[in-house]
Amino acid sequence: MSRAPLIIALETHDIRFPTSQELDGSDAMNPDPDYSAAYVVLRTDGGVDGHGFAFTIGRGNDVQTAAIAALEPFVVGRRPDDLGALYKEMVHDSQLRWLGPEKGVMHMAISAVVNALWDLKAKLEGKPLWQLLSEMSPEELVDLVDFRYLSDALTPGEALQILRRAEPGRAERAADLRANGYAAYTTSPGWLGYDDDKLRRLCREAIAAGFTQIKLKVGADLDDDLRRMRIAREVCGPGFRIAIDANQRWDVGAAITWVNALREYDPYWIEEPTSPDDVLGHATVARALAPIKVATGEHVQNRVVFKQMLQAGSMSIVQLDSARVGGVNENIAILLLAAKFGVPVCPHAGGVGLCELVQHLAMFDYVAVSGSRQDRVIEYVDHLHEHFVDPVVVKNGRYQAPDAPGFSAAMRPESISAHTFPGGRVWAGGEVEEGAA
Ligand SMILES: [Mg+2]
Repeated sequence: MSRAPLIIALETHDIRFPTSQELDGSDAMNPDPDYSAAYVVLRTDGGVDGHGFAFTIGRGNDVQTAAIAALEPFVVGRRPDDLGALYKEMVHDSQLRWLGPEKGVMHMAISAVVNALWDLKAKLEGKPLWQLLSEMSPEELVDLVDFRYLSDALTPGEALQILRRAEPGRAERAADLRANGYAAYTTSPGWLGYDDDKLRRLCREAIAAGFTQIKLKVGADLDDDLRRMRIAREVCGPGFRIAIDANQRWDVGAAITWVNALREYDPYWIEEPTSPDDVLGHATVARALAPIKVATGEHVQNRVVFKQMLQAGSMSIVQLDSARVGGVNENIAILLLAAKFGVPVCPHAGGVGLCELVQHLAMFDYVAVSGSRQDRVIEYVDHLHEHFVDPVVVKNGRYQAPDAPGFSAAMRPESISAHTFPGGRVWAGGEVEEGAA
């Protein structure tokens, strides 16, 4: 096999979309997000580039971009050979580690670079990332994982067992994915800034489009939530899964009271009821609200907190995020933890490009880790996909398995230049974003 090309440059872009103009993405904690990407391109001497990004919602995207630039010495002059070693080198750098450890801006920067390395590697192998991972041996996959702080819940030996258990049937499940895709649910009807007529119309459209679950944002005003939940239940009918999402709005007691008030409309899960750091608080909420499920993870900062939440019974749905924890490698650890505890993974997506990335992880999980799609759905939000070179394809409520080599992370060059902050056309000219509706 020929040698992997050398990485010769790390390039960053501060990219922002003025989504706050249309209230797309509005929720109880984030009323006016400008969806943004702190974007990284790894250039090689072979002509193939790796792309990655951290998702933010506007202010601070420059800080996130600077953190990515600080990782240049780790990758420039290197080859994308051993991504387990390179990931661990960045995460455990003795000086950068002080900025976390393994949390916040620096960890998200590592995520962006790790994901760009995987995009590069998958392109070099000529495979979509989900397939590349699904064809690795259990031993190779275990080598990608950092088991530090996990061994009381998951050892390398147990991880190997989980992966070996899923080895038979990999080819059948990959073929099944290519034929049938992976179920999605949609958050598009439920943004807090939409009026009742828009909510009603978008619920109808979601059902017509083949989705079997929707999600509503809640937590700003109880009377509004009761009314919106009643409308959604009327339109969707009994038994249809309607999840609700408070985006960390409540204290523990308020979460329990508020969700109990909505119980008559049969919410399927309550997402992010309280602080993503509150392991025991989530466990209290979960016990009080059962059988309503508690879902969280998009702001859970690393595998150690996921471990504790699973140990404490804090979550019955794992919502891993492709770009917050330490990229593909740490997400493999989280998928293994979820498989060990028997909790379904329903990944967080939306934002900018998060659907594009996370579909690969869910599909890899189905083929090579959990081996199951039971009660598993990938979040889908129909925003900003047109800016990507290889956008997600959702048909009849299902993500179609990506074919193109890579991690589907690359944004179109014209989108990058137009949305660069503050000098790009969209910002400098004060032009209204044509894609946001
Ligand atoms: Mg959420």
